[in-house]
Amino acid sequence: MSAVEHGFKAEVQQLLDLMIHSIYSDREVFLRELVSNAADALDKVRFLEVTRSDLVGAGTETPGVRVEIDADAKTVTIEDDGVGMTEDEVVQYLGTIAHSGTKEFAKKLAEARQEGTDEGAPDLIGQFGIGFYSAFMVARQVDVQTRSAEPDAKPVAWSSEGAGTYTLGEGDREHRGTRITLHLRSDADEFADKGRLSSIIRKYSNFVSWPILVGDAGSEEAPDQANEGKALWRMRPSEVDDEQANAFYKQLSGDWEDPALTVHFKVDTPLQYSAMLFVPRRQPYNLFIPNIDRGPRLYAKRVLITEHAKGLLPDWMRFVSGVVDSEDISLNVSREMVQQTPVLQKIGEALQKRVIKELGRLLAKKGDEETQQKNRETYETIWEAFGTLIKEGYYHSGPDTRDRLKDLLLFNTRAAEDGDELITLAEYVEEMEEDQDAIWYITAESREAALRNPSLEAFDKKGWDVLLLTDPVDEWMISAFSEFEGKPLKSVSRGELELDDEDDDTDKADLTGLLPWMEETLSGRVAGVRKSVRLTDSAAVLVDSDDGISSNMERILKQANQGGMMPSSRRILEINPGHPLIKNLAALQEKGAMEVAAPLTELLLDEARLLDGSLDEPAAMGKRVQALLERVAEQAVQG
Ligand code: ADP
Ligand code: MG
Repeated sequence: MSAVEHGFKAEVQQLLDLMIHSIYSDREVFLRELVSNAADALDKVRFLEVTRSDLVGAGTETPGVRVEIDADAKTVTIEDDGVGMTEDEVVQYLGTIAHSGTKEFAKKLAEARQEGTDEGAPDLIGQFGIGFYSAFMVARQVDVQTRSAEPDAKPVAWSSEGAGTYTLGEGDREHRGTRITLHLRSDADEFADKGRLSSIIRKYSNFVSWPILVGDAGSEEAPDQANEGKALWRMRPSEVDDEQANAFYKQLSGDWEDPALTVHFKVDTPLQYSAMLFVPRRQPYNLFIPNIDRGPRLYAKRVLITEHAKGLLPDWMRFVSGVVDSEDISLNVSREMVQQTPVLQKIGEALQKRVIKELGRLLAKKGDEETQQKNRETYETIWEAFGTLIKEGYYHSGPDTRDRLKDLLLFNTRAAEDGDELITLAEYVEEMEEDQDAIWYITAESREAALRNPSLEAFDKKGWDVLLLTDPVDEWMISAFSEFEGKPLKSVSRGELELDDEDDDTDKADLTGLLPWMEETLSGRVAGVRKSVRLTDSAAVLVDSDDGISSNMERILKQANQGGMMPSSRRILEINPGHPLIKNLAALQEKGAMEVAAPLTELLLDEARLLDGSLDEPAAMGKRVQALLERVAEQAVQG
């Protein structure tokens, strides 16, 4: 059989063009990607070997990754004794893109270029799992010889210059595994150097747990192992320094920044396992893309079971990556059944607790001031990236986890310095006034919208701080809260307030006749009209009834449904008896001047709706304003 030419899928070609025509400062990451694929292939075959004896042999006693340089031919070869690929797999994995992130990647890269900085680009390559193609950053031609470990599969040869097509033909490997030969581009011959490649391996792949041997073709010298090859997570935490842990994290995640938090621990009883988990500094690009495999890598006695142990951690913890390795799980554990395996369930719960605890430590007021401040900053970085998920976690968890998570929640408040300072519930409680019996909050679309709400006026006057909840998930989170440290959580814009009314009633309107009349006038549009203790400056405000959904929730649901069927909450109009407008309205009503009192009442409701963002028909309000102005002008001319 001679080699047959095939076309790349369009998306692959797009990606290859990006690789070939870019001048990255860090082209060296191609080696990290190819080594990581080789290590994955070795992991996969080790897993198969546990249950299979019919696999094609490795042809070497010590499995690992071999990197060979031919300085004369200007080639670099990366070879492994891993699982290899069948012909179908070669077509699937090297001719198409199995991952959904490609478009995203191309977009980010284009953006970065426009800003004139594609420094982050090579790091994106790792994150987006399109590592194989990064070979074309340094190679004008890439040859692949591979043989699957499956006994009936034939060896395959693949070759491409990265321009539109690749050829596929019969290969020559006797043993299982893959050999990738890079014919270096003339501007990349710096990589035909043993010292250079060894140092790239130490930089990016030091903790790959297979030996990576580097040598010159035809040299008498034995190849050298370039990496330490330790399973870092199995070492005692005290033996692993930050630098090692950070390097391991980067290697594992493809991130180019250090993690915000590393949680490394070993447990011996009742179950035996070690875990090294990481919280990144910023959101991975795919955090909110559904149906992506997530979760830490799972090993059983150093054998990789799955790259993403689904369900080991709850969904909201999908920002946590890392490695878990246990002596107590069977190598036959099904990758799909992680959630149903009791031992793994227990380990998962313990991991969850531990991560929450370590997050909490960042907020703890312990140690010297400098440490506290540094930890606080770290936590706020994490909160900015993943706060929404932590809140989601609070909502979805049972009482025990909620109890642990409540101290991790951060809030912006009315009194926040510069408007962006964040505090915990405990810090809020510490600052509470003596006569204050509740933790007050308001939900709104934004800080500005919240501060516009007239319901805050009474709280301003009392000097009580109010939590401003402006993330859509806050509505759900807060619904799961009844109290904190014995203090109830209450919405400033819900239900009847029991604030003591400090002012006397002398300068206030008597609302006895006005309230029932207004209720009748506005019937069908509000659930009731009553006297307000919330207001000092405004004439009226709409408040949520005790049982209905909040106006903010209504807005969120409306946005999600794009105006479809909506449960319309019936809200209560509160009026301020001390306000001149209300005093006059009461007088007009008593006098029987309904032709003025009625449109004024309508406009009060319009204005209240305008302020809380629930005014659906601005045109109708416009007409009413117009009619009123005409009347005022007429009277002025006559009078
Ligand atoms: P990723 O590693 O994120 O899946 P890559 O582009 O690096 O993406 O590799 C694509 C796929 O090609 C791998 O998932 C694997 O199935 C296959 N592959 C690449 N290199 C090897 C190798 N050395 N041995 C076996 N399979 C490989
Ligand atoms: Mg890869």
